[in-house]
Amino acid sequence: MIKTIIDKLYKYNCLEKEEIIYLLKNLDEKSREYLINKAYSTRLKSYGKTVFLRGLIEVTNFCTKTCLYCGIRAENTNADRYRLTKEEIISSCENGYNLGYKTFVLQGGEDPFFTDEFLVELITEIKYKFPECAVTLSLGEKSYESYKKLYDAGADRYLLRHETANPKLYSSLHPKMSFENRITCLKNLKKIGYQVGAGFLIGLPNQTIEDLAMDLLFLKNLKPHMVGIGPFIPQKDTPLRNEKGGDSYTTITLLSIIRLLLPDVLLPATTALGTIDSTGREKAFKAGANVIMPNLSPFECRAKYSLYDGKVFTDNESAEEKRKIEEKIKNAGFEPVMVRGDNITWKRI
Ligand code: SAH
Ligand code: SF4
Repeated sequence: MIKTIIDKLYKYNCLEKEEIIYLLKNLDEKSREYLINKAYSTRLKSYGKTVFLRGLIEVTNFCTKTCLYCGIRAENTNADRYRLTKEEIISSCENGYNLGYKTFVLQGGEDPFFTDEFLVELITEIKYKFPECAVTLSLGEKSYESYKKLYDAGADRYLLRHETANPKLYSSLHPKMSFENRITCLKNLKKIGYQVGAGFLIGLPNQTIEDLAMDLLFLKNLKPHMVGIGPFIPQKDTPLRNEKGGDSYTTITLLSIIRLLLPDVLLPATTALGTIDSTGREKAFKAGANVIMPNLSPFECRAKYSLYDGKVFTDNESAEEKRKIEEKIKNAGFEPVMVRGDNITWKRI
């Protein structure tokens, strides 16, 4: 039965909800290995052994939102807040550019200081200085008009995880936010023409297998160009500090199912996964992940951008970090590359 389900997933890239639930509930060591091998051959067909490197710049840890799991939520008075200046962001890009990066991911809390005008100026300057590079934004929810302005200024991609596809669970974790608006934002981003990244957290309090099945079907239905998933990791200054958090085993299983549901998707091996399992990211590549985002933020900010406890970050020079990551990728049998690495189905409109 389970092999039939995996074969269907491999052949047709789709499953019914009941089949996903059955798969998640009944996967044993052997069938899990079978699943991961199918995900591996699917990634070989779409992106070969390539792993794209993107430079991550954590531009601000100010945030007006209060997501219960997040260490930089507005109500955390212990957070040591910072925001980078335009010059600091450009200089981080320059540093990355000199190392060969062709994508810069600007991520941060929802910080009103970063107005549309500021961001348009910033993106325009990055695009002027590094025309062959892609700019990815991950700055939370905005209006259609704001997203459009940033796209027109040259932003290529936008990461906005849906976090969980269960509206009840979503509202219990996101005070004063709306699931509906999150989904509207994702749809608007797609409509505008961005390469869009959705994704969810694994191991949230009260999250069930049924919820995870809903997450997978939500992704299948949305068809994003990128999917970011990772374990929820408790952070000491949040209301969820005593919760258990997600595990590496489940995360890797879900990565392989996502690769099979969306064969062409760009799928990062996330820092959160590397944090709970020191070889988690290598396992992720074998299960279909094909992106990694080394940190290009100034050193003094890396510890302050503390979404969760124990985040792996280094004081290494970015050059040293890049070398180490490339070595890890190669040792796992994959090929690190620094091209733009757009989703193979995407073109700017
Ligand atoms: N503010 C933006 C981008 C920064 S947060 C946004 O929320 O979209 C980026 C991602 O970090 C979030 O989407 C969330 O899934 C993840 N994150 C936050 N807190 C986390 C935690 N405690 N453990 C694991 N991931 C976390
Ligand atoms: Fe802010 Fe994003 Fe953290 Fe939510 S997850 S509190 S929006 S930084």
